[in-house]
Amino acid sequence: MNPDEYLKNKIKKHGAINIAEFIAETLFNPEFGYYQKSQPFGKKGDFVTAPEISQIFGELIGIWCADSWQRMGSPSNFILVEIGAGNGTLMQDLLRGTKHISGFHESFEVHMVEASYRLQQVQKERLSAYHPKIKWHEDISTLPQRNVIFVANELFDALPVHQYQKNASGWAERVVMLDGNGNFTFGLGAKVPFSDELTRQHADAKEGAIIEICPAANTIISGMATQIKQYGGAAVIIDYGYYEYSYKSSLQALKNHKYHNILADIGSADITTLVDFVSLAKAAEKTGVAAEKLITQRDFLINMGIAQRYEMLMKKASNEQQQELTSSTDRLINPDKMGSLFKVLVLRHN
Ligand code: SAH
Repeated sequence: MNPDEYLKNKIKKHGAINIAEFIAETLFNPEFGYYQKSQPFGKKGDFVTAPEISQIFGELIGIWCADSWQRMGSPSNFILVEIGAGNGTLMQDLLRGTKHISGFHESFEVHMVEASYRLQQVQKERLSAYHPKIKWHEDISTLPQRNVIFVANELFDALPVHQYQKNASGWAERVVMLDGNGNFTFGLGAKVPFSDELTRQHADAKEGAIIEICPAANTIISGMATQIKQYGGAAVIIDYGYYEYSYKSSLQALKNHKYHNILADIGSADITTLVDFVSLAKAAEKTGVAAEKLITQRDFLINMGIAQRYEMLMKKASNEQQQELTSSTDRLINPDKMGSLFKVLVLRHN
C-alpha cells in the first residue's frame, strides 16, 4: 500500500482529517506506520534519544527510582513500570545500574507498557537476561493495581495532538486536506466549542494562535496519577516540551536526523510535537497527587549525580571511550543541546 495514496483516498471519501488522526495514521497505521519500521531510534535511525546517547542516563534514572523506593518506605512488592521503552535501552541500564542496591531488585516486578508489537519483541530480546519477572502490556489498563514507580522517556511527544487555531470567529480545528492539485495541505475545519476552562486559559491569544491538545496524554497521565494516588508511588516523565504557551504549531518531522516535510512521504519520518507540561501537571494534580516543580533535564541529571558518575566512568575508560563519554555527557546536559529543551516532571503521592 502506498501511504500517500491511501491517505488521499481517505480524505477524498470522508473529508479532511484532523491533526490527531493524521499523526495516528503516520505513526501507528499497522501497514505503514512509522513505529512499525525496523529501526527508528539510535545512531542508524532517524533520531537519538537520551538513553541511546549514554548509559549514564538510564543509570541515573535508576538512582532516582531507588531513591523514590526508599522514600516510599522500601516496600517489598511494588511494580516498576516503563511506558514506551523503544529499544529497551533505558530499562537495561537502569537494571544493571541498580543491581548493587540492597533489596531493590528483589522488591519489584518489571512491567513494560508498549503500544508497538514490534518494539515489544525488541524489548523482550534485550531485557530477558536482566530480570526474571518482566511482563508486557499494550496499555496501562492491565497493570496490576499496587504501589508503583513509573518511568517514561520521550513517550508523550509521540502521542497524537489536536491543533486548534484562533480566527476572527473563534477557535477552529486544524486539519489536513487536499488542495486543487490533489496535494496535502493544512486547513481549518469547523469552529469548535471549548470548555470554559480552556476559553479562559487562552482568552488573550491573538488571531492565528495555535494551541495543541492531547487527549491520549491526558488519559495516560491521569491513569498513572490515579494509581499513585490509590496505592502509593511516584513517576518520572522526561520529554522535550514547554511550560509556557508559544501559540505556534510544534509539529515536526525528523528523518535521518534532519527536519522533514510533515506532509511528504507519509510514514517515512518520525512526527512529534512538544509536550505541554502545564496540562500534564494539571491533569495529574486533578487526581490528588503532587507534581514537583518542573525542572530541566540538565538540573535533574546534575541533582542525580551525573558529574560523579562521569568521573567514575572516565577513570576506567580508554582514550577513545573518554572522548565519547565527554561528548555524550555534554549532549545530555548542555543547555544548547538537550539540557534545557528537555524537561522533567516528577509526580509523588503526597
Ligand atoms: N523511551 C524510548 C523510546 C521513545 S519513542 C527512548 O527514550 O529511547 C516512543 C515510544 O513510545 C515507542 O516505543 C512507541 O512505540 C511508544 N508508544 C507510543 N505511543 C504509546 C502508547 N500510547 N502507549 C505505550 N507506548 C507508546
